[in-house]
Amino acid sequence: MKISKDTVATFHYRLTADDELLIEDSFKNEPLTYLHGHQNLIIGMENALENKREGDKFSITIPPEEAYGQRIDEMVQLVPITAFDAVDELFEGMRFTATTDAGDVPVVITQIENDQVTVDGNHPLAGQTLNFSVEILSIRPATAEEIEHGHVHGAGGHHH
Ligand code: ZN
Repeated sequence: MKISKDTVATFHYRLTADDELLIEDSFKNEPLTYLHGHQNLIIGMENALENKREGDKFSITIPPEEAYGQRIDEMVQLVPITAFDAVDELFEGMRFTATTDAGDVPVVITQIENDQVTVDGNHPLAGQTLNFSVEILSIRPATAEEIEHGHVHGAGGHHH
């Protein structure tokens, strides 16, 4: 069978960024299982997987617009260090969830200098062109419940 809307596909992937730096390698871990056609993956990847079959291998380069978008300068903010008085330990690279007008946003501290903390709410892969090597392992029809929920259940998916 082919990957199409409302199928569940399992695949391995190796992800590198513009600079060839390895970001993720599922071949060394668990493969990814997802429900196709429900925006569970970046759009460039869903498009590339459409109509692929079990055993297919391919490589694809996905621009930021079809991945995690461009970086947005406004999502980088300087915060006075006193705002973190309640935090025991503060360090560059620290991740936490910030409550903003737009809801909860995962952010990372990119710099601590003097009394100022630079907080970046961009997705870590925003602005990056992504290179994937993919191998399709298996494809099955989704269950009615999975389609209703918009995600995969069981191995590699939601348990509830
Ligand atoms: Zn569910």
